[in-house]
Amino acid sequence: MLVLRSFMILFFSCITIKINLCFPSIPSSLKTLSIDGHFDFEQVEHAAKDFGNRYSYLPLAVLYPKSVSDIATTVNHVWQIGGGSELKVAARGHGHSLQGQAQAHRGVVINMESLQGLKMQVHTGNFPYVDVSGGELWINILRESLKHGLAPKSWTDYLHLTVGGTLSNAGISGQAFRHGPQISNVYQLEVVTGKGEVVNCSEKQNSDLFYSVLGGLGQFGIITRARISLEPAPEMVKWIRMVYTDFATFTRDQEKLISGQSTFDYVEGFVIINRTGLLNNWRSSFNPQDPLQASQFKSDGRTLFCLELAKYFNHEDMVLVNQEIKTSLSQLNHIPSTMFISEVPYMEFLDRVHISEIKLRSRGLWEVPHPWLNLFIPKSKIHSFAQEVFGNILTDTSSGPILIYPVNKSKWDNRTSVVIPEEDVFYLVAFLSSAVPSSTGNDGLEQILIRNKRILDYCEIAGLGVKQYLPHFSTQGEWKSHFGPHWEAFIRRKSTYDPSAILAPGQRIFQKPIAYS
Ligand code: FAD
Repeated sequence: MLVLRSFMILFFSCITIKINLCFPSIPSSLKTLSIDGHFDFEQVEHAAKDFGNRYSYLPLAVLYPKSVSDIATTVNHVWQIGGGSELKVAARGHGHSLQGQAQAHRGVVINMESLQGLKMQVHTGNFPYVDVSGGELWINILRESLKHGLAPKSWTDYLHLTVGGTLSNAGISGQAFRHGPQISNVYQLEVVTGKGEVVNCSEKQNSDLFYSVLGGLGQFGIITRARISLEPAPEMVKWIRMVYTDFATFTRDQEKLISGQSTFDYVEGFVIINRTGLLNNWRSSFNPQDPLQASQFKSDGRTLFCLELAKYFNHEDMVLVNQEIKTSLSQLNHIPSTMFISEVPYMEFLDRVHISEIKLRSRGLWEVPHPWLNLFIPKSKIHSFAQEVFGNILTDTSSGPILIYPVNKSKWDNRTSVVIPEEDVFYLVAFLSSAVPSSTGNDGLEQILIRNKRILDYCEIAGLGVKQYLPHFSTQGEWKSHFGPHWEAFIRRKSTYDPSAILAPGQRIFQKPIAYS
């Protein structure tokens, strides 16, 4: 019975008595299990928190597994108790979910980072890869693989997340247009299913489980080990930003950059609404190509679209790479005076968000509510979306960055569980808001949630075919609509790999994951 975070209120209230009657004996039955690690039944508050800082469900126990068999034993025990116990299990990676996805109300949270069974192992050769624990942080994988001159191909913008956490979603960043999301760059997994069985899976072996778990929102099993594909790591990165005022020109250039043989290794972008002096801020880390002209650039309250590119290189190829970049940039239609370039080590580029984290933490601005909204938008609808959302709904971008960049669907494997739009190219638009605690103004949680709802309502009414990334819904109807034609496959997979989550055969009512109740 893997994770169930947000029950419908109605359902929740109906089972309260049952929970009260059943639960007191359950922690003691967990105490009888023979495991290498340990359970903590007292200090569990931290497992009721996440990065989103909006949802808090207190578990009954936190398991600190030392071995895969600890996880298997625990999940099997919960399976043996049966669906009627309502006991839920959630894997917790680094707890950077936004809406309680790694929490388990009165259930068992498995602290994946304490899983120590597997030492990271880098394999060199023609098809290099690294074997890692499901609770390993991506930053550690980067450090270890760099010792061998290698690195994973596909990233998230922030590396202090676990392998199990990002593979349960997709794992996307500016490299996804070329390599696909992180779930397209995994060769093999070891998974503890909802019955507590330890199963190896890959494209060739137990492939249905393999693809179920990838992008599976932690619903089909717990990833205890992953084999991640690697490539030769570059030494340095040319990191480039430039500005557009015309959305159509901006997206045309982005789409050109992700098609065919792109010179660049990373393509992202962001939106700037009603902010002044932003280009001056960049100067601390980026050099304007033409300092005089850049200093004269005025946004005049216009909405700006910033293209962000990166090109990897090694020192010995510097001259050639500079020439390639120059040629590629000459084909773009940004405002010439707004070109900013920086040159940083590869590690510094990939770990860039951590630097912001340190600054925000020092100002007490990291552990605030994060009402993020992440959307996948079909290419054909991105202009309508931008017109309404950047033109009408949002009046500024002071609550946090808004990322926008296209990816190629051909790089996503349609056998995985992740739900994406049907078109060949679709955009990620990520509203990464931070709410000012106890503010009732535009920067407060309530107002940001109202804005998010307006965006979602608009997408729904306009029939844009938008899909949520890192999704969270409260009703079965919403989940059904999210999965669309994939709903039946989801149900089948759930009943195969986590069957005790079904309340009654044929009823198709789930106790957990994502509020299928
Ligand atoms: P958790 O929050 O601990 O868990 C997430 C989900 O995965 C839960 O459902 C949990 O039960 C499940 N889970 C965890 N471990 C396992 C496991 N071993 N097996 C099975 N299920 C498991 N995402 C992107 O794609 N691209 C980005 O650029 C990006 N940037 C981010 C930047 C920041 C600052 C933050 C906070 C998040 C960002 N994310 C990004 C989102 C992030 O990928 C997800 O929130 C991810 O789930 C967090 O990983 P975690 O290890 O903290 O997982």
